[in-house]
Amino acid sequence: MKNAFPRYPLLSGDTPLMPLANLGAELGVASLWIKRDDVTELAFGGNKLRKLEYLLGQALDEGCDLVITGGSPQSNHARLTVAAANKAGLETWLCFAGERLGDVQGNLLLDQLLGAKLFATGAYGSDGLLAVMREKAFAAERLGRKPFIIPVGGSTGRGDYGYVTAWYELERQRQQQELPPFDEIYVAVGTGGTLAGLAVGRNLTQTPTRFRGISVWQEREQTEQEVNRFMRQLCKEINQPAASELAPTDALFDQYIGRKYGTPSPAGNEAIRKLARAEGILVDPIYTGKALAGMLDQLAKTADKSKRVLFWHTGGAPALFTHASSLARM
Ligand SMILES: *Cc1c(COP(=O)(O)O)cnc(C)c1O
Repeated sequence: MKNAFPRYPLLSGDTPLMPLANLGAELGVASLWIKRDDVTELAFGGNKLRKLEYLLGQALDEGCDLVITGGSPQSNHARLTVAAANKAGLETWLCFAGERLGDVQGNLLLDQLLGAKLFATGAYGSDGLLAVMREKAFAAERLGRKPFIIPVGGSTGRGDYGYVTAWYELERQRQQQELPPFDEIYVAVGTGGTLAGLAVGRNLTQTPTRFRGISVWQEREQTEQEVNRFMRQLCKEINQPAASELAPTDALFDQYIGRKYGTPSPAGNEAIRKLARAEGILVDPIYTGKALAGMLDQLAKTADKSKRVLFWHTGGAPALFTHASSLARM
């Protein structure tokens, strides 16, 4: 799958594909693997860098000099946008949800260190923030700037294309290591763009892998609508209309969100400890810890221990420090 989309390179090679031998043995799962998109090269890494390669490629192609994006004050996407934009020589304005920014720690601290201009907007939700970003863009244009708006989570057809190429990367790595296809891939789902890109890739290669998307934000039905909407948007962008739906064998779960988005859950925190102690790998309390908790629960419920399973690590480490009080044992 090759397209002529301009790409601003942020990742210099494949992210590691590694076995989780200790955790697999603990769970009685014959083949358990992890794809390390937390090991990406800027500012503590994470999945947003794959989207940003194509989003910044587009911004530079259009001659923009300012990136405007937003999210919650502890957004991983915001942090990685500033880091990537700095590398590309672009300024960043961040529009945050809510009336106040909260404590300057975790991602917000990193945003400050990276030098973004920060706004507490009083707006909420993806659409509310997009409206504020448009106002800021008008204001910037009046100052003679050329702004480029990136919606919350970097999920646009162009951004999500970064996860189509990630799918092809996994297929290539798997074949190099002479591994058969994974039966199931578990991944955290926020806006849904990451899963949308992966699922479009899977549809294009017709690989018999089933996705297990663990929502950390919205209910199952809404999550499914969003993932399918992003898949259609993406397929239009790459002119591949046939690949644009989740398969009936894919599944989305919303029972691992816990109390709400952005608040750690006891099961997620337990999953963080389990992986850390078994493998020395850290997941975060807001996305990947909850996704891992979902995977552990689903695997505990199946009798079939011969499945080949992959956990797609999407990053988020700075949130460990933001939520120290929830994670620490005194
Ligand atoms: C943004 C994010 C996700 C979710 O990605 P979407 O494309 O929004 O679904 C998962 N994990 C981490 C750590 C993230 O920052």
